[in-house]
Amino acid sequence: MLCDFLIFSDLVVILADLLLILQFDKDNIITFHIAMYRTKTCGELRLANAGEQVTLAGWVQRTRKMGGMTFVDLRDRYGITQIVFNNEVDAALCDNANKLGREFVVQVTGTVAERSSKNANLPTGDVEIIATAMNVLSESATPPFTIEDNTDGGDDLRMKYRYLDLRRNCVRKNLELRHRMTILIRNFLDSRDFIEVETPILIGSTPEGARDFVVPSRMNPGQFYALPQSPQTLKQLLMVAGFDRYFQIAKCFRDEDLRADRQPEFTQIDCEMSYVHQDDVLEIFEDMARHLFKEVRGVELPAKLQQMTWHDAMRLYGSDKPDLRFGMQFVELMDVMKKGKFGVFDDAAYIGGICVPGCADYSRKQLDELTNFVKRPQVGAKGLVYVKYNADGTIKSSVDKFYDEADLLELKKAMGASDGDLVLILSGDNANKTRIQLCSLRLEMGERLGLRDKDKFECLWIVDFPLFEWSDEEQRLMATHHPFTMPNPDDIPLLDEHPERVRAMAYDFVCNGIEVGGGSLRIHDGKLQEKMFEILGFTPERAMAQFGFLINAFKYGAPPHAGLAFGLDRFVSIMAGLDSIRDCIAFPKNNSGRDVMLDAPSEIAQEQLDELYLNVDEQRVNLLKNK
Ligand code: ASP
Repeated sequence: MLCDFLIFSDLVVILADLLLILQFDKDNIITFHIAMYRTKTCGELRLANAGEQVTLAGWVQRTRKMGGMTFVDLRDRYGITQIVFNNEVDAALCDNANKLGREFVVQVTGTVAERSSKNANLPTGDVEIIATAMNVLSESATPPFTIEDNTDGGDDLRMKYRYLDLRRNCVRKNLELRHRMTILIRNFLDSRDFIEVETPILIGSTPEGARDFVVPSRMNPGQFYALPQSPQTLKQLLMVAGFDRYFQIAKCFRDEDLRADRQPEFTQIDCEMSYVHQDDVLEIFEDMARHLFKEVRGVELPAKLQQMTWHDAMRLYGSDKPDLRFGMQFVELMDVMKKGKFGVFDDAAYIGGICVPGCADYSRKQLDELTNFVKRPQVGAKGLVYVKYNADGTIKSSVDKFYDEADLLELKKAMGASDGDLVLILSGDNANKTRIQLCSLRLEMGERLGLRDKDKFECLWIVDFPLFEWSDEEQRLMATHHPFTMPNPDDIPLLDEHPERVRAMAYDFVCNGIEVGGGSLRIHDGKLQEKMFEILGFTPERAMAQFGFLINAFKYGAPPHAGLAFGLDRFVSIMAGLDSIRDCIAFPKNNSGRDVMLDAPSEIAQEQLDELYLNVDEQRVNLLKNK
């Protein structure tokens, strides 16, 4: 067998060599068609290959003419290789090379030679190909921007010509990383007995949480499918079905008002498990994260990740996704600053400060900038109080008029400040809002001081979320995560009287101030699930109409189950140190949710509308357009 194989593979090599030789036998069209397009990629040739005859294929990155020589940088997915055409050796060939435009697709055959002036920035920079033949496979119009890492194309232009943008090394490598991560994830989960199951994209609408994208059904006039916001209920049904451990790299769709760095469609690593406690879930997915960080970035996460309660996260960082790459924890200053001396503080429902190390020398201008920062509508504070504990022991503050030195020394102690530090204080009549403002200020200071280093990773779990949160907009309690989240068993007695005090068996995976994943233990008891719907304001009829399939399924032996979902786009962008998730999505939407390349969404023909029994309310549409 082995012997047969050797003979066969030898034959293949001989045949390939033969075809290569025949390949540029000019008039012989047949040999040209059956020849290999390329024998090497543009990224693999090194000095050790010198003397070899090779054929490469790729895009013309750039051409340079120097005397009788023409140099072409040929690019493919793997790299760039320099090709040399020598007028003295083959004038016609060199002439053809001079006619090449940017992004022409060409096939070049030649001999690998050592370069006299080497390019240390390129892995192939020690060699060049002395061309002996060239074949233009495809011409190109002048590209609208340069296909280089430092391109001259703006965001919109690059989105419109995304297929050209994707040719750029810096964009393509993000998608390669994404691919690598999904392979690692699949293999990891497979090794832990998870089964990948595809769930449908056309499902029913469950307008709880974000808005659904809906799809009209031609076969069922007047009825609509919805695209899944997540496969949440379906994966729970898979647990009832006995799958025990499920995962899916799942496309999810949410018709939300677009905030920065959100996409209407995104990808989740969606998982569910039966017969597990919260700690079991955290352990498995911590292992998965540890595996990814190790394999992709060579970073060792700690043996056990910190678990912080939601309450502590809000108290110390004003956020349920704290960035732990730096300190500056909040210190509550109600006792210290309420002294009947300064009305703003005396009336406040919350006063909190952060200590910024080594910034007592901040100038007037820098402090004004910070004041303007907190007053921006996006932050919304009324003003900023600062106290500089100068390196020489003197104190200078914006409240010198109201507080004496002893007061400010007491503050220094409370803040744990040292000489040289700057204390920044915010106050307000709504504790939560003020904490969120202070969170923005803390992150801004982290940014200014370069503490949000993209090569540093601080991951933690946030646990003990409140089960419900109050919605000002809807004037009712809403599920913090979703209506299937299990209440903490200790808090179930509070469900009727004090639902707002009930903690959820829910957890978020946070990295560098970004919520990368989240999930919960689920309710598997039909009665408790009905109770949840009741608290969330569903009538039994509405609950049945929307979630009857789940309530019914729970009647047939639902195992205790739990799960979570990681945002793949976010995970990849953190690993790659990207500013936006768009950069790791092949064909993303812009900030208004449009695909500018496909020009979608777009109007559809009247016949299509008729077929779907739909009418567009032109009057309302025009009203909105003219607004
Ligand atoms: N389905 C949830 C979400 O999309 C995650 C989970 O609870 O598993 O946020």
